[in-house]
Formats: sequence, C-alpha cells, structure tokens
Amino acid sequence: MAVKDQPQPPRFRQISNVLLLLSGLFLLANIFLPNLFGPQIPQVPYSLFVHQVQEQDVVRASVGQNEIRYQLKGEGDKPGQVLSTTPIFDLELPKLLQEKGVEFAATPPSKNGWIGSVLSWVVPLLIFVAIFQFFMNRQGGGPQGALSIGKSKAKVYVEGESAKITFADVAGVEEAKTELVEVVEFLKTPDRFTAIGARIPKGVLLVGPPGTGKTLLAKAVAGEAGVPFFSISGSEFVELFVGVGSARVRDLFEQAKKQAPCIIFIDELDAIGKARSTNAAFGGNDEREQTLNQLLTEMDGFAVGNTTVIVLAATNRPESLDAALLRPGRFDRQVLVDRPDLSGREAILNIHSQKVKLGPDIDLKAVATRTPGFSGADLANLVNEAALLAARNRRLAVAQEDFFEAFERVVAGLEKKSRVLNEKEKKIVAYHEVGHAMVGALMTGGGEVAKISIVPRGMAALGYTLQLPTEDRFLLDESELRGQIATLLGGRSAEEVVFGSITTGASNDLQRATDLAERMVTTYGMSKVLGPLAYDRAQQSFLGDGMGNARRAVSAQTAEAIDQEVKEIVETAHQQALDILKANRELLETITQKLLETEVVEGEALHKLLAEVRPLDKAVA
Ligand code: ADP
Ligand code: MG
Ligand code: ZN
Repeated sequence: MAVKDQPQPPRFRQISNVLLLLSGLFLLANIFLPNLFGPQIPQVPYSLFVHQVQEQDVVRASVGQNEIRYQLKGEGDKPGQVLSTTPIFDLELPKLLQEKGVEFAATPPSKNGWIGSVLSWVVPLLIFVAIFQFFMNRQGGGPQGALSIGKSKAKVYVEGESAKITFADVAGVEEAKTELVEVVEFLKTPDRFTAIGARIPKGVLLVGPPGTGKTLLAKAVAGEAGVPFFSISGSEFVELFVGVGSARVRDLFEQAKKQAPCIIFIDELDAIGKARSTNAAFGGNDEREQTLNQLLTEMDGFAVGNTTVIVLAATNRPESLDAALLRPGRFDRQVLVDRPDLSGREAILNIHSQKVKLGPDIDLKAVATRTPGFSGADLANLVNEAALLAARNRRLAVAQEDFFEAFERVVAGLEKKSRVLNEKEKKIVAYHEVGHAMVGALMTGGGEVAKISIVPRGMAALGYTLQLPTEDRFLLDESELRGQIATLLGGRSAEEVVFGSITTGASNDLQRATDLAERMVTTYGMSKVLGPLAYDRAQQSFLGDGMGNARRAVSAQTAEAIDQEVKEIVETAHQQALDILKANRELLETITQKLLETEVVEGEALHKLLAEVRPLDKAVA
C-alpha cells in the first residue's frame, strides 16, 4: 500500500508557498545585491564634497535626493575619480555648483523605477499573506472558511499500490485475526448483513501492549477488504490550537464517508479518549474533551444511510478510556492483541526471516523458545539484528549463532568488552553471579540456568546470569515465586558468604525481590496472615506491572501486616539462599574459578557443574 497525503485545499496553498519563496528571494536580493554588484564608489562626507567644489576640483555632478555622485578633475588623460556623498538639505547648492563651473544635473529616474515602486507595494503585501498562510497551515484548523484551512492530516493508504498488507503478514494473534475476518466481511459485503436487519458494528478497539501488531492488523484488514484506509494518530488530534482537534475529526469523517466503504484507523486512542473525570482534577482539558465529543457525535451520526465506515482504534491503555467510548454503537467490540506464545513467536520469526537469507543450521523454534514476552516488533527487531551481525561477520547467510548473539544484545544491551573491571571487582561479580546460578539451579519456576557471564553489558549490568524458561509459564505457584526471590537474593548471599560484606551491585536484585514479595502478598493473596485479599487497587493489567498498582486504602494495622509479611518472605528466601550456598561452599569456589578463567560459562559445562549443587536436607523448596 502506498501512503498518500489527503488532497489539501490545493491551489491556494501552492501559490502562496511559491509567493513566500519569491518574496524571500526578493528581500534577500534587495539586501545583498546592491552591495555585491553595485559600483564600488567611495563615500565621502558632504563637507568634503563642498570643499572640493569650492576648490574647483569637481568637474560634474549628478544630484539625486539621496545621493550625489560627482567626478573630480583628472590628471592629464586620466579621467578623474568618481565619488559619492549623501546630501543634506541645501538650497544654495545649485548656485554654488554653477558659480564654480560644475556641470550638474538631477539624477535620472532609475530605469526600473516603475517596477520598483510597484514591487515595493506588492512585496510586503505578499509577505504578509504568505506568513499568514504559513501560520494557518501550521494550525491546520479553524473554521472551514473560504481558505479551507483545517483539513485533517489523515493519511490514506490506497489499496492496490505497492505491497499490500494482508493477514498472512500477521502471526501469533490468531484470536484477533478471527474476529477481524468478520470485519473484513462487513466491509466487503455489507448488504448480506443489512439485508437481515443486522447492524454493522461501527467501532472495533484493538487492545494490547506496544509492538504486538495493532497497526499492522488494521492495515491488514484494509488490505484484505480492498478498501481505503484513513489513518490518524490520537496525539495528532490534540496537537496545537483550540478547536482544531474537533475540526479534524469532522473533516476526517467527511472524507471517509465520501470514500465508503472504508476504514478509519485511530492510533493511540487514549490520547483523546481519556476518561473525562480523571482530567477534571487538573482543571480539565477543554480541547481534548471537545475532540472526544466530536468523535462520539460523528460515530453516532454516520451510520445513517448505507455507508459502511468502520472505525478501528488502537490503545494500550483501555482502562483509561472514557466509558462513553465503549458504549454500544461506539467501540463496543474489543479485540485483544496480546504478546505471542511460543508457536506464535515461531510464526512471526518465520514471516520476518523470509526477508533475510538463512543458513542451513537455523532453528527458529529454538529462538522462539528463548524469547517469551517478546512482542512482534521485538522479534522483527531481533531478526534484523541477527542479519546485521551476520553481515558484520562477513557471512553470506544468517547463522543460528547470530540469532543468539542478537538475542543477548536485544535483551541485555550491547556487549562492552572495553569496559574492564579490576581484579577485585571481577571476583565479586563472579561470586555474585555464581550465587544466582547455584540457587537458581535448585529452584523451580525460574527456568534453567543457561549462561553465566562476567562480561559487562550495557550501562548497568556488570555480569549476568541467564535463565531460560523451558516452556511458557502463565501460572506460578507460591513455592516457585519464593524460589525466584531466593534466586534473586542468591547473588547478594554469595557476597555475604565469601566476603562477609555486600556491595552496591545487588541493589537491583533487592528491588526486584521485594517487588515480587509485595505482589505475592498484595496482588496474589498468597499470605496466610492477610488472606486471599487483593490489596493493590487495580488487578494487574495485562501489561504486567506498572500503573494502577497503588494500594487500596488500608488500615494502619493492615499496612503494617503487609510490610511484615513482605519482610518475612524476603528474609526466609534470603536465609534459604545463604544455607544453600554455605552447604555448597566448595562448589561455589570451583564454579567461580572457572568463570574467572573463561568469563563465560554456558551449555554442557555449566549444566554439569550445576548438577552437582546439593539440595538442603531440610529441603524447603
Ligand atoms: P503496535 O501498533 O501494536 O504498537 P505495530 O503494528 O506498529 O505494533 O508493529 C510494529 C512492527 O512489528 C510491525 O510493522 C511488524 O513488522 C512487527 N510485528 C508486530 N506484531 C507482529 C505480528 N503479530 N506478526 C508479524 N509482525 C509483527
Ligand atoms: Mg501502532
Ligand atoms: Zn545480581
């Protein structure tokens, strides 16, 4: 599909742009040209001119209002010098010139005087108009007046030109696709549905985390149905001046109705569709509200007649949307576009690696296994990184190796071999990482420990322990979560066991361990003391964490009990990690020495070493 700008109010804008350019050139020319190309005549003070006349050194003069040019007597055959001066108001001058025998005349009117004087009127006018127009363009809105400003910036993807996107380009979101196939049917054969009196849905909301293919799906719907696709982003509506957003909405729907059946796609719907009440606290946002109201009005209005315009919208914050948007007849259909599962990831990798040359050893399934939580966009990026690495390594095709290196890059930032740790630091980091690995090896739920490295990566991590899930996990039980917390504390515990002190390197681990413990208590209801109550306000959104996690208003005692519970969980896990490491003190030493030698321990070698970790007798995990 090709992207085209919607036809703008055409001629006036073009003309005014040309005028703006011309008048700019004219101004520049006026400023610079006389100095650049004009005759280089020396300027002298008027008093010197008068003196020279009185001394009878001057032969002739050309007297203008703003300038007098005159020529001095030459010596012998040589003509005299030409000088110029700026006159003062002097009625006696002609008399003086005549007395001293100077040939003189008034300056003839300049040859382009007529054009000049017209231009001097017209040019400022043009500049004014052009500037006015320029600002109106910027504003892009306002009333639909004679100048027809305020056209929407919607892009139209016209189907049929260049590569058209279809459902085959989207993978891993099968449920969403099934629902959207129906939308395609509505667009292709609306009569079939209206004939039996069914109401064709107007709005479909695509909901999901960033990069999961919402925009892609919307384009695919247009591609499958073979209809025009108007696309605009919510933030563009709210851009500049008051009144513009709603004018844009009106205009967008007007254009769409003319081209029905078609799709209007509003990306980032939350930018205009935020719940109105939440904003009232800040004194409200009139502009956004007007835009929202206009959108609602248009959606209510356009079903009249037999135009099929379906509004697709995308958001990753459905919970923040105004309830009015979700009412029947508006965005009453919601399609979840979630992160892909294992087979979905493999399918997405397949799609994107069609564009690159793959070597014979490629196992995309293995790549997919390593990448739970990756969105479609992340996977597309991964394929590209792998291809870049292959090219840098001067390979002819992408090898599996490239994928794994790309994966580590994407996950942990770029490898920075140049950043050297001193020996002491290196040792601490090594013990720390081995601590994670050994505790992790005994714990379920965190996945298999696949790699320990003390090669610094990116900005923050000095070393890292890579745990790979062996399958996609959606549900974790309490002991698995406790195991994860112990694993997170394993690094710090190793430092304690070996050095008796801890460094600042463990702070991120602590943060994550505490967060996890708190969620166990407040979100998952796993505390025996507090019972199965959710103490955080919003149940965890599908985004995984982040916003809406403020605690419900609780009594002081409950708050204290929560803190107590969190502390208990973390401390128990800490003790467990310490016990494991103390019981395996020699192995801790062995693995660390090996790691210090090779900087990276992975694969079979690591597997063998970690298999030797002895579980605690009183095995808690
Ligand atoms: P969103 O709009 O949900 O943030 P996009 O549709 O803009 O995500 O996705 C960005 C890019 O990532 C797409 O152009 C595509 O290359 C890739 N991508 C994302 N999801 C998928 C998917 N499910 N299948 C194939 N490619 C995908
Ligand atoms: Mg998008
Ligand atoms: Zn750590």
